Amino acid sequence: MMKNINTNGLGKRDSFYLDENSNDSSLPYTEVVLIVDDEENQRNSLKQVIDSEGYEVLVCGSAKEALKMLDSGVIDLLLLDLNMPDISGLDVMKYIRTQQIDTTVIVVSGETTFEAAEKSLKYGAYDYIGKPYSIDGMLNALKNAFKKRQLEHENQAMQLRLLKSENLHRYIVNKSPDIVYMLDEEGCFTFVNDRLEKTLGYSKQDVLGKHYTTIIHPDDLEMARYSFNERRTGKRASFNVELRLKCHETKPEVKYFESQMLPITVSSFGIYNSQDNDNTFIGTYGVARDITDKKESERIIYFQAYHDTLTRLPNRALLKDRLEQSIALAKRNKNKLSVMFLDLDRFKNVNDTLGHLVGDKLLQSVALRLNKCIRECDTLSRIGGDEFTILLPEIHSRSDSEFVANKIIEALKMPFDLDGEEIFITTSIGIAHYPDDGDSIESLLKHADIAMYAVKNKAKDGYKFYNDTMHEELSASFSLEYDLRRAMTNKQFSIHYQPQIDAFKNKIVSVEALIRWTHPSHGMVQPSEFIPLCEETGLILPIGDWILDRVCRDLKHWRESGVLIPKVAVNMSARQFEHPEIVNKIQAALKKHDISGDMLEIEITENVLMEDMDTVVSVLGRLSALGISIAVDDFGTGYSSLNYLQKLPIDTLKIDQSFVQQMESNQGAYSIVKAIIEMAKGLKLQIISEGVEEISQFELLKSLGCRNMQGFLFGRPVSMAAITALLGEAKISEDNGVPALLFS
Ligand code: C2E
Ligand code: MG
Ligand code: MG
Repeated sequence: MMKNINTNGLGKRDSFYLDENSNDSSLPYTEVVLIVDDEENQRNSLKQVIDSEGYEVLVCGSAKEALKMLDSGVIDLLLLDLNMPDISGLDVMKYIRTQQIDTTVIVVSGETTFEAAEKSLKYGAYDYIGKPYSIDGMLNALKNAFKKRQLEHENQAMQLRLLKSENLHRYIVNKSPDIVYMLDEEGCFTFVNDRLEKTLGYSKQDVLGKHYTTIIHPDDLEMARYSFNERRTGKRASFNVELRLKCHETKPEVKYFESQMLPITVSSFGIYNSQDNDNTFIGTYGVARDITDKKESERIIYFQAYHDTLTRLPNRALLKDRLEQSIALAKRNKNKLSVMFLDLDRFKNVNDTLGHLVGDKLLQSVALRLNKCIRECDTLSRIGGDEFTILLPEIHSRSDSEFVANKIIEALKMPFDLDGEEIFITTSIGIAHYPDDGDSIESLLKHADIAMYAVKNKAKDGYKFYNDTMHEELSASFSLEYDLRRAMTNKQFSIHYQPQIDAFKNKIVSVEALIRWTHPSHGMVQPSEFIPLCEETGLILPIGDWILDRVCRDLKHWRESGVLIPKVAVNMSARQFEHPEIVNKIQAALKKHDISGDMLEIEITENVLMEDMDTVVSVLGRLSALGISIAVDDFGTGYSSLNYLQKLPIDTLKIDQSFVQQMESNQGAYSIVKAIIEMAKGLKLQIISEGVEEISQFELLKSLGCRNMQGFLFGRPVSMAAITALLGEAKISEDNGVPALLFS
């Protein structure tokens, strides 16, 4: 056994051989010899013989005393007499053995029998020297004993180093985040690290000696065989092959327990016997990394990219993907398929009257019912608001899709119970068939959409198959409405900004946001042509939300890019103003882009003020409280009672452009403009004239005390980029008091 004791009174100690890093190792070391003999003469003469050899020689006359010295652990070599009165030499050796004391014993005895020598060696003596001894013989014996001792210690130290190194490598391999394994040439496990149990639940005994296929998922066997059996090495080794491994059945008591699968990437490298130069394949070394979490997050990301979060149905992207595949398949097999476009009738009413939460719940319930009407191979997707599509990839004739359409109409007839509220809903369905009605994703979706529109336009609640005459049937307004519905999703709207100036300070003080619609075939469509239709159809609500969001986003952009931040006036139609959520919506848009209310002005027309007075007072009050100012647009054209001007938190009157444009030629118009300006002064309201086109109008209005103006004279409504440039330079010409850029 190895000694591992501290230095004590007797001096140096033995870590010399044990720890190569020990500081003690550099100290010179003198071996200690203990002579034990009860006869003093013998002790002394022996001491004399070996004293000159450079050892540290200790003597003692009794075995008991010798045991004590041995206990101290410093004795390298013991010259031991066998016959002593207290304890025999053999018992001393027994003691050495049982206490595992690291010392070498040479028996020096007067007993010359063979038995004595044999016994001594059996008890662990290294040598046996009979008395009388020759000096040379004794010294030789000592030298040999020390030589052997040194070899033993060196051997022990090497063993220790090997053990340490082995432990270190074992530790590294077992603590590895990956499963580390080895297979023999047959593909059976010869080594697995501890990670196997932690990851898959198998103990080492479960797999050692077993073939690797026992833990591979059946569907991945082929891939596994390819990776392992190729016995690849070097560049041909298998890296990061994705395999599913079976987890150990942790609950064997469950009868039909299905092993869990764990996706893993496996790397395997062939090991070849290079020692004997025969290069035979002797096994496989590899690592396997648990990638379950990574796969799970990939799955979630994939799901989110291809599904609608509200209903968890496939979204437009996935629909297109499936449709593309189905068309290709139908083409090859000369099959038919059908695409249905569904739009819920009057869904907007539910949203408007019962709120978005109920609307969302209704959509979820509708999705569930629709799902029950189709087969597994069909794809139901939600592609926007209350619009769903169904792809039926395997149909034989039109009657197949007719059957599904009828089933859907029936299924939706039952009322929906949403938080105790009974809701009835119907749907309009348009159906297009491949190949008759189109052979591309776009044409099939468009034609199903047009057919749906044809249902909506007539009686609603029903279905129609697409036919080519439907295009012509679409009346101008219908077509406009149809296009308008698509304009939002197809990103055809934009916002232009028109400057509003302070005529006394000669600078831009605010801008008015005006919507623009770039129609794919008609080009720019004026708001006067489509805003009334938007109001009629309720489309103004989503469009209005979009405008608010855009304006706040643009305000934030100006703030961040350091341009002069104008106040922005946003037009709001009566339909928007009536909406119960209007103030919350505005507040949310401001908050989303971190914009303060005083950056916003809401323009309403006089007819808005004619609505239910309580609502108007409450909404305007709440908007004012947010710091938002209120302007009355097209002032003078409505039938408003002047009474409200005093009662309501109104900030600005916008004199309608018709008065401005006629005031020089028409005395009546001039009087109205003058009166409005005077009245505004009295009521401490701001005033702004719109439609200012001529310098003469500008000067006349200025002389009447109208501070703010807007019109082509100062600038037409322009794109975000153009107004940003204008705000950036915002130079003022001193020549005629009119901002220089305004004639551009
Ligand atoms: P509005 O709010 O009275 O807007 C002023 C209209 O006068 C704008 O027409 C503007 O381009 C035009 N204009 C400005 N300066 C002059 C000028 O010097 N001469 C002439 N002749 N016209 C001038 P636009 O952009 O066609 O908008 C028309 C109406 O559509 C707006 O009248 C407003 O009622 C409505 N509108 C525009 N954008 C929106 C919007 O985002 N939401 C809502 N709800 N309505 C909007
Ligand atoms: Mg306006
Ligand atoms: Mg106006």
